[in-house]
Amino acid sequence: MNIHEYQAKALLAEYKIPVPTGSACMSPDDCIAAAKKLGGGLWVVKAQIHAGGRGKAGGVKVASSIEEVSQYANNIHGMNLVSKQTGPEGRIVKRLLVEEGIDIARELYAGMLVDRSRQQIALLASTEGGTEIEEVAAATPEKILTTYADSESGFDQAELASIADKLGLADQTKIQAIELFNTLLKLFIEKDASLVEINPLVITPEGGIIALDAKMNFDDNALYRHPEISDLNDPDEQNADEIEAAKHGLSYIPLDGNIGCMVNGAGLAMATMDIIKLYGSEPANFLDVGGGASVEKVTNAFQLMLKNPHIKAILVNIFGGIMRCDIIAEGLITAARDTHLSIPLIVRLEGTNAEQGKKLLADSGLSIIAANDMADAAKKAVEAAGEMG
Ligand code: GDP
Ligand code: MN
Repeated sequence: MNIHEYQAKALLAEYKIPVPTGSACMSPDDCIAAAKKLGGGLWVVKAQIHAGGRGKAGGVKVASSIEEVSQYANNIHGMNLVSKQTGPEGRIVKRLLVEEGIDIARELYAGMLVDRSRQQIALLASTEGGTEIEEVAAATPEKILTTYADSESGFDQAELASIADKLGLADQTKIQAIELFNTLLKLFIEKDASLVEINPLVITPEGGIIALDAKMNFDDNALYRHPEISDLNDPDEQNADEIEAAKHGLSYIPLDGNIGCMVNGAGLAMATMDIIKLYGSEPANFLDVGGGASVEKVTNAFQLMLKNPHIKAILVNIFGGIMRCDIIAEGLITAARDTHLSIPLIVRLEGTNAEQGKKLLADSGLSIIAANDMADAAKKAVEAAGEMG
C-alpha cells in the first residue's frame, strides 16, 4: 500500500525525523489559510498524488507571496498531473500540501528497501538527490552507496559513518545523518514498510538535515497489524479494477499484453504468464481466482478481464486439487454465456474430475478451445490472439 507524501512526513515526524512544517489541504482556500498560518515569506505548494516526478511536471511550486500561493494552488488543484511516473493518463490532483519553504544547500538521496535476494533491508544513499534515482543508477551506479542491515543489530555504525563521509557530511550534520539512517530503519521495521524514499534529503545552509520529500510503501500482508497505516489509504489513488477485484476475492493486476489469464494459485498464474511470453506473446493481466472459484467469481473475473480493450484471447489454466474441474467447467460455461464472450477461450483443466470437466465444455455448444497441457494451452492462446489481429 502506498501513502501520500504528507502522510509519510507525519510518520517521519513521529519518529523525530525533521520535515518541513506544513499542512494537507483539500482546496485552494485551505492552502491560502494554511500559508497565512505558517507565516514567513516562502511557501511550497505540492500536489499530493501517489507518484513522483511532480516537480518537473508542474506539481511542485515555490511561492514567495500569498498571492502566488493562491495562484499555484488554483493551478494545481484539480489539474491532471502527467509525470514520468503517472503514465500518460496522469492523475487528478485532489489533495495539496502547503509547507514552509526551505533554504537548500545540497540535495541528497536516501532510500530504504527490502533486498529480496539478500533477505535484508538495504539503505541506499547518494549525493545525487533531487533527480530520479533510477537515472543515477543507470548512468553512474558508483554514485549509489549501499549498506545492509543485520536483522538483529541493525546497521554497522562504521559503515554508516563511511557513507556519511562519502556524502560529504561532517560534524553535527554527519551525526544527524547517521541518527536519521538508524531511525529510518526503526520506522521501516516497526511499520512493516517495503520502501521508504527521501528524495531530496536536504542539507540546509546552516548544516541542518531535513526530509523535503517522502515516499513510503507498506507490505499489504502486514497491514492487519497496522490499522493506523490502513487508515491512510486513499481510494482515489487505487486502480478501480483492482478495488473491484478485491471485493470479489480476486487478485487482479492489469498488464500491457493481449492474452487474459485466469488461473488458480499465484505460482501457477506466474508460470502461465511466463509460458505466454515463451510462446511470443504478452499477458493482459495477472489473475488469481484463489482456491474456491464459484460461478460468481469466475463471471466477475471474466467481466474484469473483458474491460481491457486490448484483450484478444483468454487462457484459463486451472489445476483442480480440492476444487473439482467439473464445477470449474460449469462456472466457465455460465460466465462465457453471461458475458457474451466473443473472443477465443482456451481452457486447460487438470486434476480432480478433469475428464468430466472437459466433457462439459465440449458439450456446451460454446467454441472453447481445449488444451492438453500448459505448453499446448499457451501455444493455442498465442495463435488465437494472433488471428484476432
Ligand atoms: P517530486 O518531483 O515529485 O519528487 O517532488 P519533490 O518534493 O522532490 O520536489 C521537487 C523539487 O522541488 C525538489 O527537488 C526541490 O528542488 C524543489 N523544492 C521542493 N520543496 C522546496 C523548498 O521548500 N524549497 C526549495 N527551494 N525548493 C523546494
Ligand atoms: Mn522527490
